[in-house]
Amino acid sequence: MDKKQVKRRIVLVPVPAQGHVTPIMQLGKALHSKGFSITVIQTQYNRVSSSQDFSDFQFLTIPGTLTDSDLKTLGALQFLMKLNEICEASFKHCLSQLLQEQGSGDDIACVIYDEYMYFSAAAPKEFQLPSVVFSTTNATAFVCRSVLAKVNADKFLIDMKDPEVQNSLFPGLDPLRYKDLPTSAFGTIEDIIKLYGEAVNTRTASAVIINSASCLESSSLSRLQLKLQVPVYPIGPLHIAASASSSLLEEDKSCIEWLNKQKPRTVIYISLGSLGRMETKDMLEMASGLSNSNQPFLWVIRPGSIPGSDWTESLPEEFSKLVSERGYIVKWAPQMEVLRNPAVGGFLSHCGWNSTLESIGEGVPMICRPITGDQKVNARYLESVWRIGVQLEGELVKETVERVVKRLIVDEEGADIRKRAIDLKEKVEASVRSGGSSCSSLHNFVNSLQTKSLCSFEIVPVQSQ
Ligand code: UDP
Repeated sequence: MDKKQVKRRIVLVPVPAQGHVTPIMQLGKALHSKGFSITVIQTQYNRVSSSQDFSDFQFLTIPGTLTDSDLKTLGALQFLMKLNEICEASFKHCLSQLLQEQGSGDDIACVIYDEYMYFSAAAPKEFQLPSVVFSTTNATAFVCRSVLAKVNADKFLIDMKDPEVQNSLFPGLDPLRYKDLPTSAFGTIEDIIKLYGEAVNTRTASAVIINSASCLESSSLSRLQLKLQVPVYPIGPLHIAASASSSLLEEDKSCIEWLNKQKPRTVIYISLGSLGRMETKDMLEMASGLSNSNQPFLWVIRPGSIPGSDWTESLPEEFSKLVSERGYIVKWAPQMEVLRNPAVGGFLSHCGWNSTLESIGEGVPMICRPITGDQKVNARYLESVWRIGVQLEGELVKETVERVVKRLIVDEEGADIRKRAIDLKEKVEASVRSGGSSCSSLHNFVNSLQTKSLCSFEIVPVQSQ
């Protein structure tokens, strides 16, 4: 087949959550720019719609809904596991229809599925199509997940009750401590062990694509490559390689006008991502600390993110007073634009991997307040490996909030952190430029599709630890 005349198709299967949709759509954009047609197969939940950025993409939705009672009672982990149970058959049906409809030269080059949409592995295997796992986190978190997938739940729970153990290094994962491991706030340890077991099992996948770069975690990437018997392609940060907007919520751009009125590098931007929540008590401590720091702040408070409240209406008058002095609140921000704004001096974040990469990509130092999962791994790396962040650990009290903001924005230490952040920004930018490691990695992946060297039939054994 003549490669040049053929526009082959890639099927993408996202997890229906912002932090997963964003990078897989960026991946789609990157592959589209390399000449592939893109089909996105989605579930009924949190669907991305065709926008200017994806006008050439095909969007298909598979049937399969959870009951109302499931939706009310299941935590995020069980929701994902249930979704995997109910979608396998409908995905197979959808893929078989696509195969029947495909015209000559529109053959499916591969199915790329989010590691948590593991139901997607069976259909390509049956139809002898290559499948590829897409990891929206980083190699370090992937390695941690494979470690956690094998721990004994009972023993781990006992260990974690001991503060001394919590603060000690986890064997073989230096500099991560027990408490930095990606356990989940959204489910039990048994659920997370089960889910990680499924996610790290690459089944019959021919490759793993990961939204990371060797300048960020070369030893974890090597370790992952050794562990998996298929090629690992680190092609990130994808938001720099192929920016594309896939926000599931409406962005409030009024905050950019507000930012434009602030002095350079003075504003603290606060966001806990698309799922993070905060108790009223913590909101008040945070507002007092920010206010006492004398720095302006832009705060994303998502509707529903304060337990028991639609938005901020349940917060006491004191909160509005503290915020009105020097703050600005939005329900959802155009985060990339915010981080790019010269007024932003620091990002107080839950350290989701996308937020982390976006902050690194703009050279913005971080205050790390991880909540769950890989956020704890990222926070530890931000503070002690890349040294471009400071952790806000323990109980949230106004004094520590004030101190950490001053450390980052006012103190000399902050200037050093900022310098390192700018250095890292330059390194990640170089990795996606022509000749850079991520750019070459993407090229190699595309090449493996074009030459059809990405094998579809080999059954890859899952390697034990
Ligand atoms: N985000 C945004 N506006 C906001 C808050 C978050 O656009 O007000 C985006 C952010 O840019 C990032 C994504 O939502 O791309 C959140 O992903 P992340 O991995 O950081 O965290 P998660 O939401 O998965 O916990």
